[in-house]
Amino acid sequence: MSRYSPSVAKLISELGKLPGVGHKSAQRLAFHILAMPEEEVKTLADALMTARTSTKLCAICQNFTDQDPCPICSDPKRDHSTICVVENPRDVATMERMRDYNGLYHVLHGVYSPLNNVGLDEIKIRELITRLQTSTETKEVIIATNQTAEGEATAMYLARLIKPAGIKVTRIASGLPMGSDLEYADDVTLSKAMQARHEF
Ligand SMILES: [Zn+2]
Repeated sequence: MSRYSPSVAKLISELGKLPGVGHKSAQRLAFHILAMPEEEVKTLADALMTARTSTKLCAICQNFTDQDPCPICSDPKRDHSTICVVENPRDVATMERMRDYNGLYHVLHGVYSPLNNVGLDEIKIRELITRLQTSTETKEVIIATNQTAEGEATAMYLARLIKPAGIKVTRIASGLPMGSDLEYADDVTLSKAMQARHEF
């Protein structure tokens, strides 16, 4: 029998499904929530639901957004001839923090990773190809997937797919440590990696 009542056990189990939350942390969070005033728990629950229901994917770049197209895609001051392809919405936030880049994005929501059962159809590659076919503005696609084996394989695959269309395809330089995630790069390193990008 569980040491906890069914509702507490359920809360611990659900919290434990979140990334980076082990069983011990899930227990700590659960008891913290149980000790919170009911009104605060309601605010937290509402914030979760509101964020989830009002957030959709931008039909153009596939980033999370409240409005479609997202503020970046609909900004006429941005350079609409350049698309930076990233793995996830966190990477867009990282690039925007750098303030060096003024083009558009495309969020793949993952990388090709057969070992982890992520096939080419599970990431937003088809959406990128359709986007490139329907918009004639694109002159360069910068591939900024993480410098891991999966990120490299995805970059190579995309380059092979896009180059025949006569669009310049570049890869951010390997100024970032091998195997590292974009989101952990400091602004200077990331900015240098962008500037020193090479053509496929
Ligand atoms: Zn967008």
